Amino acid sequence: MIQRCMVIRLGKPYTIAMNKHIINLDSTSPAGQPTPMVDPFGRAITYVRVSVTDRCDFRCVYCMSEDMHFLPKQDLLSLEELDRLCTAFVDKGTRKLRITGGEPLVRRDIMKLFKSLSRHLDSGALDELTVTTNGSQLAKYATDLAACGVKRINVSLDTLDADKFRAVTRWGELSKVLGGIEVAQKAGIAVKINAVALQGVNEDEFESLVRWSHGIGADMTFIEVMPLGEVSGQRADQYIPLSRVKAQLMERFTLTDIAYKTGGPARYVSVKETGGRIGFITPLTHNFCESCNRVRVTCTGTLYMCLGQEDAADLRTPLRADPTNESLNKAIDAAILRKPKGHDFIIERGANIPSVGRHMSMTGG
Ligand code: SAM
Ligand code: SF4
Repeated sequence: MIQRCMVIRLGKPYTIAMNKHIINLDSTSPAGQPTPMVDPFGRAITYVRVSVTDRCDFRCVYCMSEDMHFLPKQDLLSLEELDRLCTAFVDKGTRKLRITGGEPLVRRDIMKLFKSLSRHLDSGALDELTVTTNGSQLAKYATDLAACGVKRINVSLDTLDADKFRAVTRWGELSKVLGGIEVAQKAGIAVKINAVALQGVNEDEFESLVRWSHGIGADMTFIEVMPLGEVSGQRADQYIPLSRVKAQLMERFTLTDIAYKTGGPARYVSVKETGGRIGFITPLTHNFCESCNRVRVTCTGTLYMCLGQEDAADLRTPLRADPTNESLNKAIDAAILRKPKGHDFIIERGANIPSVGRHMSMTGG
């Protein structure tokens, strides 16, 4: 497939490889038309994460503060608007859409959005429609998700100890999540378990989390905690570099680096003893910004070009002002040209100021 598009900053025609296709970039496409998204560093944006709500039925200690103030419901994009926005991104070359939050599955009628977005899978415009969830509502929705073409999901699960789980989520029920995972797998969905490595919480469980995940046929990914939003206590008291997690796992398992990729930032190893895979997402110790292929949209239609920077673009105004999508496409193009080179996350003892003020639950993980 050959597409043509305009990159305003670059003026002269050039070609890049994007998503296995060669794209000829020149200045012949009319402004406001859907054109592929390429940032100033030549990175093609093919992956969009959309947060459909900032609300959640959990209050994970590293994600939210205890007294979160949520957005008034009238500020949120409607499901129809979210569909239009996602479709605009698909028209601009997005191949992978991840629905996230907050907890995406607590948004009322969310299955309507999945159902409607599944047409892009049917048409071949989209390679993957997926979701990141805390799993609390999976038992209810997994079969519907599978019917909408969702083939893989990420379930966040930081501990297998029910008491610790309740403490870390502030009131979540582990058994419900485990039940949801079972239903999802029975529905034919591949589950990946995501755990944030947390000092004093799951340090003693890295091996058991891997054994359990691989035992149920799920890949497992560890994530470094990021300094996003104010939370109770010091980030430094939560943070563990994944080099330590890996070293600990290497005492128990034979790990081999592999080239496996899912379109996200994880670097994978295979585990000889279990036959499974472990991913490591290391925004602090080894940033992966040079290969960043994604942007994030909040439930109010704010586009964040980088998880770790404050700059953002309002897409709700052009979306509502212009039914033709021309203004929306222009706003997206202008924003992509401002995508920064990378984030500047730092976690230091004593300096408990978040790198960015907003919580992960707002931007969407
Ligand atoms: N509620 C869903 C869930 O928990 O999977 C989706 C949204 S949640 C914000 C997405 C992911 O972000 C989860 O895997 C969560 O563990 C992770 N997360 C939240 N806050 C984080 C932080 N400060 N640093 C690193 N990961 C974080
Ligand atoms: Fe909710 Fe997910 Fe944040 Fe936990 S990590 S509070 S489940 S949004």
